[in-house]
Amino acid sequence: MFGLGKTASINKNVYFFGKGKADGGLELKNILGGKGANLADMTSIGVPVPAGFTISTEMCSQYYKDGKKVSDELMNEIKENMKKVETAMGMVFGDHENPLLVSVRSGARVSMPGMMDTVLNLGLNDATVAGLIGKTGNERFVYDSYRRFINMYSDVVMNVPHEHFEKEITDMKVRLNVKLDTDLSAENLKELVEKYKNVVKEQKGNSFPEDVWEQLKLAVAAVFESWETPRAIKYRKMNGIDDSWGTAVNVQAMVFGNMGETSGTGVAFTRNPSTGENIFYGEFLMNAQGEDVVAGIRTPLPISELEKVMPDCYKQLVDIYQNLEKHYKEMQDMEFTIQDGVLYMLQTRTGKRTAKAAVKIAVDMVAENLIDKETALLRVAPNQLDNLLHPTIDSKAQLKVITTGLPASPGAAVGKCCFSAEEAEERSGKEKVVLVRQETSPEDIGGMDAAEGILTARGGMTSHAAVVARGMGKCCVAGCSSIVIDEKGKKLTIGEKTYGPDDFISLNGSTGEVFEGEAPLAPADLSGDFGTLMSWADETRRLKIRTNADTPHDSEVARKFGAEGIGLCRTEHMFFEGDRIKAVREMILADNLEGRKVALAKLLPIQKGDFYEIFKAMEGLPVTVRLLDPPLHEFVPHTPEAQAEMATEMGISAEKVKARVDQLHEFNPMLGHRGCRLGITFPEIYDMQVQAIIEAACIIKKEGKDIVPEIMIPLVGTTEELRILKENAIAVADEIIKNAGLDLKYKIGTMIEIPRAALIADKIAEEAEFFSFGTNDLTQMTFGYSRDDSGSFLPEYVTKKILPADPFQSIDQEGVGQLVKMGVEKGRSIKNDLKVGVCGEHGGDPRSIEFFNSVGLDYVSCSPYRVPIARLAAAQAVINQKRS
Ligand code: PEP
Ligand code: MG
Repeated sequence: MFGLGKTASINKNVYFFGKGKADGGLELKNILGGKGANLADMTSIGVPVPAGFTISTEMCSQYYKDGKKVSDELMNEIKENMKKVETAMGMVFGDHENPLLVSVRSGARVSMPGMMDTVLNLGLNDATVAGLIGKTGNERFVYDSYRRFINMYSDVVMNVPHEHFEKEITDMKVRLNVKLDTDLSAENLKELVEKYKNVVKEQKGNSFPEDVWEQLKLAVAAVFESWETPRAIKYRKMNGIDDSWGTAVNVQAMVFGNMGETSGTGVAFTRNPSTGENIFYGEFLMNAQGEDVVAGIRTPLPISELEKVMPDCYKQLVDIYQNLEKHYKEMQDMEFTIQDGVLYMLQTRTGKRTAKAAVKIAVDMVAENLIDKETALLRVAPNQLDNLLHPTIDSKAQLKVITTGLPASPGAAVGKCCFSAEEAEERSGKEKVVLVRQETSPEDIGGMDAAEGILTARGGMTSHAAVVARGMGKCCVAGCSSIVIDEKGKKLTIGEKTYGPDDFISLNGSTGEVFEGEAPLAPADLSGDFGTLMSWADETRRLKIRTNADTPHDSEVARKFGAEGIGLCRTEHMFFEGDRIKAVREMILADNLEGRKVALAKLLPIQKGDFYEIFKAMEGLPVTVRLLDPPLHEFVPHTPEAQAEMATEMGISAEKVKARVDQLHEFNPMLGHRGCRLGITFPEIYDMQVQAIIEAACIIKKEGKDIVPEIMIPLVGTTEELRILKENAIAVADEIIKNAGLDLKYKIGTMIEIPRAALIADKIAEEAEFFSFGTNDLTQMTFGYSRDDSGSFLPEYVTKKILPADPFQSIDQEGVGQLVKMGVEKGRSIKNDLKVGVCGEHGGDPRSIEFFNSVGLDYVSCSPYRVPIARLAAAQAVINQKRS
């Protein structure tokens, strides 16, 4: 089951570190694990690290191959190395007078914090306990260590549940009427040790092992086995960590922070992990063990206080942290222990940090000449930037999570529950509302815009709600299947509790969490460091970044975030605003061409106005406008009540409305009468849109501004479709331009979103001036997965590893990606300078962007709030390509 990683020397399975020397270093990270490699490396650069040894990850695979056995050969190698540790520390493992105690810890190639097991204080038994008391004269400390050891070892190695020990200590504290563990005397702890031993006997039928070598062998086995615990497996799945890597085991001399007032322990970061400030940050406790700092039983002191308590140690610690950061050229998260006035470093690793800190640290480190700009760009995960662009839920707030859905669009929203789009529009002027819907449809656009955020019970990451919310930069939690929504009754039920129109809820669109009540928000802060990092990204990237925007507001937002044009303006969204929908419906209901033309004439000035505003917002930049794409039935109501209302408004009979809606009904609308098929059967619709685009561009041109409109024909599957529609568009456009007496350039291109279009891209390129891959539809049609219904099975596909990721979020490089690559190559084989972009949701996904960069696209287009993410991801793609 395990594959071997990078192999070191053939016969070496255990690697010693101590006294300034180590058998390995960072280059053996795959074998030593992250922790082991760091301990070895720290030792080599002169950091005081308690001596120890690392059992390689290869031994983990061997352990499983041998039927879960620690071999004699391995035990011999362990014994040899233990001798070296004994020499380095001046103590002997299992010795009755001068006993060495060790910790046994896991350590995979990449950190899996808290997922695997650890045993501390190993090597204690009745005899070594006596020796240690003799040596330290500190009976209380020794019995405290002993009882901790029995508890931890029995729990981790012997599978005796921790609660049994917890019960004993709690009973004792109640009996003695004390509150804290530290209130127990040496005598009490000694008694507790006996009780703990009895627990083991009762639970397991045999005694706690006295033989220190047996203790060690079983602990090593237990750590190997903790690689396979359900939580570790789950963590690997969530973080894409290979199951075959296995864990190393680090056996290291124990040092004690709980040996009295000249001992202590702490954790520290070389910089503030929350703000990124270059200030030594951390906390410590005197007379305590590491777990006390983490457990929060006693309140630790800020690290700066250590200077007062132990000035020499503090000074040494400052020297060490500065050296470690210089050495690793990265912010470090360290653990240290002071034993009787002597400082030891137990661990250092790359520190986790907030998005804000990540940006600041990366920029500062360049200014400090620690790293170059390219390294700085790689230090920030593009998706992390999301957190900097939206107001966020104040992380310090104590909030009750009532349910969790998909984190469909980041940011935060606080408002009262609102169950229809109309109501959201109505209430939003007076109060803050969150739109709560089963799912949203194009008719809900106005309400979505008016609401603070959107919560839906159905739909996935590319559902209507998710896509539109991301486009608007609005927080959205989608597909929250555990909620029950009664839209008519205006009720939202989660478990036992029901929320109505007067109840506040809060959404965290970055995590998918839904909270009860009003969560406090922290505003977005685009500091100078953010701008600096972005400017480096712009210098580095090759891909242009455009945006998917269909309102002047979205266009302005995107431009502010650095968009270099519009890659997709979906004209249908404009059809829903205000009075437009009336004219659209009139057009749909018209009995003949004449009637349709009358209705379209009403739409023309409105569309022209829309385009004018968008072109103005994007002055000087390219704007791709897509002609109408969705099937017509999306614009008509489907319930009898709404149809009756529409009939009254239009002065026609409800029967007529119903008959037309029935006529428009499609069994599979995504594959039906939509896209260019509408343009072929109702050419007057596209004619009107082309006229609106060109006339708007002419006005811009007359105002002395620059604009190159790009007219995009959707859903093309045959060359003939494009040829006919292009001819129609040119006829309309050229006539207008001629009459205006202007020299206006425009382009006509197509979306490649049907697999057939990718397969015949060379032929299509003869008619197209540009390609834009619509990877949403291309994914849908390549897989045969409905975009709107795949939420019911795709998560399970990902969990079961049938697919590595949701292909609607991250491009399926193997299949859909191949079509994209082929489309680019075939297209450019006919026109070598053919401009090619992507405008599906994948255009804002960092992993997909890396792929699009590698196949030579000219640009990606994504929703406004993903523009900065795409800028950084495109820069990283260039750097990674160069370095690979
Ligand atoms: C696509 O299919 O990728 C696309 C951008 O078009 P839409 O999402 O509007 O179908
Ligand atoms: Mg499409």
